[in-house]
Amino acid sequence: MLSLSHILAQLESTARNKNSPPRLLAVSKSQTSAAIAQLAKQGQRAFGENYVQEAAAKQRELKELSLEWHLIGHLQSNKAELAATQFDWVQTVDRPKLVSALARHRSPERSPLNVLIQVNIDAETSKYGCAPQEIPALAALIAAEPQLTLRGLMAIPAPDPDLLRRRDAFRRMNTLYRQLSESYPHIDTLSMGMSDDFELAVAEGATLVRIGTALFGTRPPQ
Ligand SMILES: *Cc1c(COP(=O)(O)O)cnc(C)c1O
Repeated sequence: MLSLSHILAQLESTARNKNSPPRLLAVSKSQTSAAIAQLAKQGQRAFGENYVQEAAAKQRELKELSLEWHLIGHLQSNKAELAATQFDWVQTVDRPKLVSALARHRSPERSPLNVLIQVNIDAETSKYGCAPQEIPALAALIAAEPQLTLRGLMAIPAPDPDLLRRRDAFRRMNTLYRQLSESYPHIDTLSMGMSDDFELAVAEGATLVRIGTALFGTRPPQ
């Protein structure tokens, strides 16, 4: 387990562009509100949760802190209303039905919901995320919704012990990201890298890393 300042220093030193180190998303699934508040006190603002309902209680308890909440777990369409209401970002948009459901439920009185397209970069049968060739169509659907803002791409590569293969997945994501930014020059987020491989992801161009275990310690059993 590493301290917040240690991880931020690591991100800064491995960043490709020293002027803009990648953002840190603290993954707080199965952590308590108290643990989140502790990190917030040290200056961490962005937190990632996997389950809409688990997040709801913490978001209520920590409302005063005005944190930035990212949904990073698979989203079922029947939870899209809760997700569009409670979160600032949804990183796991991978199908047209979700785009329309999120847009419909994001109140026009609020700033648009930030959205990442989740890509199944290693074509794993067990994984969520769209295929790389589905990105352009999904991006066009998102861009057409005033209540959504397309910010970029997200991936969870296969947990391959061979780091060279993992690095290759990060590199392929970077290529897809650069291709997408030709059509959508405002996108600014490539979300990849977790506790055990974030330095590799940053070396391949991640602009946001999602770190749980290295920051909070081993997760308590669910
Ligand atoms: C749990 C989770 C993480 C954080 O993983 P750690 O190995 O604990 O850093 C990152 N991204 C997603 C999508 C997760 O579900």
